Amino acid sequence: MGTILDGKRVAAELRARLEGRIAALTERNARPALRIIRVGENRDDLAYEKGILKACSLLGVDVYVSALPEDASSGAPLEALRRANADESIHGIMVFRPLPERFAGEAVHAAIDPGKDVDCMSPLNLERLFEGRPGGFAPCTPEAVIEMLKAYEIPLRGANVAVVGRSMVVGRPLAMLLLREDATVTLCHSRTRNLSAVTRRADIVVAAVGRARFMTPEFFGPDAVVIDVGINDDGSGKLCGDVDFERCEPRVGAISPAVGGVGAITSTVLLAHVVLACEGIAKINGCNLT
Ligand code: NDP
Repeated sequence: MGTILDGKRVAAELRARLEGRIAALTERNARPALRIIRVGENRDDLAYEKGILKACSLLGVDVYVSALPEDASSGAPLEALRRANADESIHGIMVFRPLPERFAGEAVHAAIDPGKDVDCMSPLNLERLFEGRPGGFAPCTPEAVIEMLKAYEIPLRGANVAVVGRSMVVGRPLAMLLLREDATVTLCHSRTRNLSAVTRRADIVVAAVGRARFMTPEFFGPDAVVIDVGINDDGSGKLCGDVDFERCEPRVGAISPAVGGVGAITSTVLLAHVVLACEGIAKINGCNLT
């Protein structure tokens, strides 16, 4: 039986570490605040937003939502973003992506204040990430994967890690974060030849494929640590991961479930970034937070 990697536990530990810092900020009238910008009512966006609102209320972080209708004018997201950039009471901005095409997503990405870019959307912060330079916040989902691995003390230095999926949201930035930890990374995708032979050799496999229960036991070695980022509808309205959890769990070293796994950590990582951004501003304003 594999160890179940419990994202709720990891998120609770992260929250506990943030509580004292938020209290120190609030004492100095510097209450961390997040602005969410959402266009339309995409089901995944709404589910993620619900998780963020819950995490904000648990931690005492202020959150405001700019919910723009699907038929908003093409300049509306950029305008909302400019207002949030200029608003000194807002420390972090999160734009749900991808924006529908007519909203010129690239212009929106480029317009965010890099200091408030808590989910790594701006070209500057992406450049820092891909060049391995400090500064900027990492994208939240890939960072949640790293938090999970570290919380369970799974060694990364020199480890062979196969990441399946090369999107800009998960796979590619995660590969960069793993390199930062000195892992040896293989980034796999739909054209990877003999995928199961590649993943079977890995100490750690991260599934970010977007295909329900795609990875079955033959993809993993007996001691593999399996992180499932996937969140899919299994066809009957239930959520499931990219890994066939029931069949794989007894045959691997450790595994994260689709529900209560990485997704449970992501919104807390986002708030950790908002707190850090707020601390940065508070320090500039001369607050001693220690
Ligand atoms: P994308 O659809 O953007 O990317 C999927 C990737 O999987 C692509 O790189 C694609 O390869 C690869 N792929 C598809 N089919 C295969 C195959 N047969 N063999 C190998 N690789 C394949 O998905 P995302 O990265 O946005 O999301 C991945 C999953 O993670 C989804 O289930 C999503 O819902 C979930 N997710 C979860 C989050 C969380 O917080 N837990 C947050 C964000 C996403 P190619 O590039 O060649 O097409």
